[in-house]
Amino acid sequence: MQYQESGRHSFMRKWLAALAGLTLALAGCSSTASSPAEPAQYPKNIIIMFADGASSTQWDFGRYSSTVLRNQPFVTTDVVFKEGSLGLLSTHPSDAYVVDSAAAGSAMSTGFKVNNAAIAVTRDGKSVPTAMEVAKAKGKRIGLVTTATVYDATPAAFSLHALSRRDSPGLVDQYLALEPDVLMGGGSDYFLPGGTSGGKRKDGKDIIAAFRAKGYQIARNTAELKAATSARLLGLFADEDMAFELDRDPAREPTTAEMAAAALRALSRDSPNGFVLLVENENVDTAGHANDAASLMHALWAFDEAVKVALDFQRRMPDTLVIITGDHETGGFSPTYALKDLSTLSSKNRFYTGDEQLRMLGRITMSLNRVKEELGRKPSGEVLDKLLAEHFPGFRLDPDLRELIINQGTRERNFTYLPQNLLGRMVARQTGYYWGTSGHTPEPAVVGAMGPGAELFRGYQDNTDFGRHLHRLIQGK
Ligand SMILES: [Zn+2]
Repeated sequence: MQYQESGRHSFMRKWLAALAGLTLALAGCSSTASSPAEPAQYPKNIIIMFADGASSTQWDFGRYSSTVLRNQPFVTTDVVFKEGSLGLLSTHPSDAYVVDSAAAGSAMSTGFKVNNAAIAVTRDGKSVPTAMEVAKAKGKRIGLVTTATVYDATPAAFSLHALSRRDSPGLVDQYLALEPDVLMGGGSDYFLPGGTSGGKRKDGKDIIAAFRAKGYQIARNTAELKAATSARLLGLFADEDMAFELDRDPAREPTTAEMAAAALRALSRDSPNGFVLLVENENVDTAGHANDAASLMHALWAFDEAVKVALDFQRRMPDTLVIITGDHETGGFSPTYALKDLSTLSSKNRFYTGDEQLRMLGRITMSLNRVKEELGRKPSGEVLDKLLAEHFPGFRLDPDLRELIINQGTRERNFTYLPQNLLGRMVARQTGYYWGTSGHTPEPAVVGAMGPGAELFRGYQDNTDFGRHLHRLIQGK
């Protein structure tokens, strides 16, 4: 039988030829597909928006929940990730596969790997220049904003040095010496001497007074922050970490967006050489440790409002680079499908998490960390039931979890935030928002960037590459 090319075969042949051409074209532009060594342009200002503990699942949850419950776009994904340069970062420290925020922040700030818990000090004991030190040496103004304590791992790793992130009073002393133009967040405890309200310093020093003596304006609540007019600003809004959105007193503690706006106002004053600003929402990480999906959602929305402030600033000042990133994933966050109960493994007894389950999360009005505080050292069943009825409408606590909460037990060795992880499991069983751990995971961090130099962050890189790009962009060479 004579071979006759059918219409289908000829179509296939053309298609294969086209595919070969496409492959060649892609191979030809592989040098532009990975990030270039030189930026086309250098930014005057750099704003680093940092959601501690956020990786791709958290970012997508922000997008999904914002669309369904707020009927609003999530600008992190819908604007910056879509229109900007997008990349991934591997996160391992020098001494493990799983990273902590000190080592991750140090790599991103310095371009060097360090051990977990170290702040910009390599494993051979060398202090390596931080992004904020380099910026200051270049004559740029610098600012650090966080919902954590200002001496927490991320802001510390972007500016200071310590063998251990736990040296809180020492880190505060270093801030006083470094003089960041803007420093905002929680953690007034290690600025004030023991014996004064919330003070924990053993050396009797009042570091707030010392900042004031150096010409800083001090803000201790939202109204004072909004009224601030100085170019140098110290804002301390909580003794320790600032509150979750669900628990926040708006008169006392400003939002991440309000802090970002105040920081940009202060830093853009008298700044011929521009500035570098780090704005961190730490509650994304804290919610992950607690396995608290509702608090995570509100923290992501609060972060995204601050991203809008940064993008508005960039529209007015186009020589500004806006970078959105996180340092690692927290919680092994796994929205999934699951059985409704253990009566049968049949797929008929299964639900896929969706809008209905998300709405249940949306009705929660208290963070799991706050529930822990309310329960106190000896959790009582009565107080627990009352809290759940009032703040977790529609949720039922299964007997196994209830018993573990009252007896203060854990189910596994990687669930150590108690009783929050058990309450997180209660939420998971009814909504499908499960968690794999109360710790960090090695899921690559996501980085999205818009503005001059954004192209350096494209592709799959290491978190030390992020640090190296940042130094190059700050130094303008
Ligand atoms: Zn963490």
